[in-house]
Amino acid sequence: MPTLLNGNRIRDEILSELKPRVERCIHEGGRKPGLAVVLVGTNPASQIYVRNKVKASEALGLHSVEFTPPATITTDELLGLIGKLNYDPSVDGILVQMPLPPQVESRRILEAISPEKDADGFHPISVGRLVANLPAPRACTPAGVMEILRRQDITVAGKHAVVIGRSDIVGKPMALLLLHANATVTICHSKTPDLAATCSRADILVAAIGRPAFVRREFIKPGATVIDVGINRLANRAEMEFIYSEAPDLKARLEDFDRKHSALVGDVHPLEVDAAGAVTPVPGGVGPLTIAMLMSNTVALAERRLNLA
Ligand code: NAD
Repeated sequence: MPTLLNGNRIRDEILSELKPRVERCIHEGGRKPGLAVVLVGTNPASQIYVRNKVKASEALGLHSVEFTPPATITTDELLGLIGKLNYDPSVDGILVQMPLPPQVESRRILEAISPEKDADGFHPISVGRLVANLPAPRACTPAGVMEILRRQDITVAGKHAVVIGRSDIVGKPMALLLLHANATVTICHSKTPDLAATCSRADILVAAIGRPAFVRREFIKPGATVIDVGINRLANRAEMEFIYSEAPDLKARLEDFDRKHSALVGDVHPLEVDAAGAVTPVPGGVGPLTIAMLMSNTVALAERRLNLA
């Protein structure tokens, strides 16, 4: 059976390493690192993500401020808020929760965040610095994957890494981080022919697709490290039952589904990873690292602004 890569444990390790750095900001810099989170509208999934981010920053002892403008906000109004946060000396990191309502020009909003406060690493300057392998905040989810690999002593240099997905927030930055760590990287996407054959040559396979249980047995090279970035909420009981039909604990899973009316499934089929050497579970794999890396980016931005870096 593959080794389970426990994201909760690695998250706790990262957060405990950040604590003394937060203390240093307070004692030597004179204030707490500050994170401003902007949540537009009332999307329930976004509300949960934001609540978890605010909770994590408070638990770490950061100064945390939350803004919740209505879904009717215009691009100019939101640009006004970002402008104020850019000049607020108590704020080191700014995060605008995506997706934004359709009338708001998301690209303009992301570009308006000062690169010195770009907690999510989505600003074009941060992206350019990532391409050039220069220091800058890195996109949190791919940075979290690199922490899993590093802290589990999984060799990346010289390995063949295949990333499925080419989004700006996961797939592309993931491929660049693996490349900078000296992997030979293949990026696959929805137009890639013979996907399973390409994936089956990967020593490290990263799935960031957004399709439940998409990666099947034939995608996985024996002994490969399989990183499942996908978080798919299944609300259809039959779909859930189909995926887990061979699971010995199917009955308990269905009972759990009936209580919660949904279940989380990754992009990798949870019952078809037996040939892998190591695998991240869903939930409890990559997910917890995303918030840890947001905290890490915010503390690093604060250290720079307080001249402690
Ligand atoms: P996205 O929709 O922006 O991108 C999906 C990518 O998958 C695209 O590049 C597309 O080309 C590729 N793709 C789609 N169908 C494909 C197919 N049939 N074959 C090959 N490639 C295909 O999604 P995203 O924002 O990159 O997120 C991907 C997944 O990761 C989602 O499940 C999302 O919920 C999850 N996610 C998790 C975290 C976390 O904290 N763990 C953070 C961000 C995203």
